[in-house]
Amino acid sequence: MFLSVKEMELRKIRFDETFEAGQIEFASENLEQTSPLHAVGSAELLKNTGGEVRIQGRYTVGLTAHCDRCLVSARHPLDAGFDLFYRPAATIARDEEIEIDEGETEIGFYDGGGLELEDILREQILLALPMQRVCSEDCKGICPICGKNRNQSDCDCSISKVDDRWGALRKLEI
Ligand SMILES: [Zn+2]
Ligand SMILES: [Zn+2]
Repeated sequence: MFLSVKEMELRKIRFDETFEAGQIEFASENLEQTSPLHAVGSAELLKNTGGEVRIQGRYTVGLTAHCDRCLVSARHPLDAGFDLFYRPAATIARDEEIEIDEGETEIGFYDGGGLELEDILREQILLALPMQRVCSEDCKGICPICGKNRNQSDCDCSISKVDDRWGALRKLEI
C-alpha cells in the first residue's frame, strides 16, 4: 500500500491492512512468516514542517526463525506499536547539521512522493526482533562434541574446555 503525500495533503490516511506470508520478503533474513501480518494506523502530513510525515500504528505478526544456539525453529510472535517521522529526502543536505543534535526522535526520509507501508512494516519488524534469536533464554544449545540438542537430552560428553575465569585463578595459585 502506497502512502501518498499528495493524498495526505487532503486528508489523514487510515490503513487497516493484512499481508499474507510471501507478500513481504523475509526469507533473506532467515525468517518465515507463519501468520498474517495485520497492521492498523494512520499517515498524516504535519503542518508547517515542509513535508514531514507522521506514521503511527500497531501490527501483529507471527514469525519463526532458527534458534541461534540449537537451530530448532522458534516462534517470535510480535505485537508492537510504532510512531515514526519521515522527511522528504530533498531536505537531508539542508538539515544535516540540525539532524545530529536532534537525537531523541528518529527521523527517516522518503522520496518519490510517499512511502510504501510494506517497507515500513518490514523495517519495524526486523528492528523488533531480538539480535540473538533463541528458542528460549536458557536454551542449552547443541553439544559441540556429539551434536545432540542438549534441550532434548543430556549427553555424557565431558566438556574439556576449561572456563576462562577458572583458568585465570589456576594461574594465580601456581
Ligand atoms: Zn534453542
Ligand atoms: Zn555430547
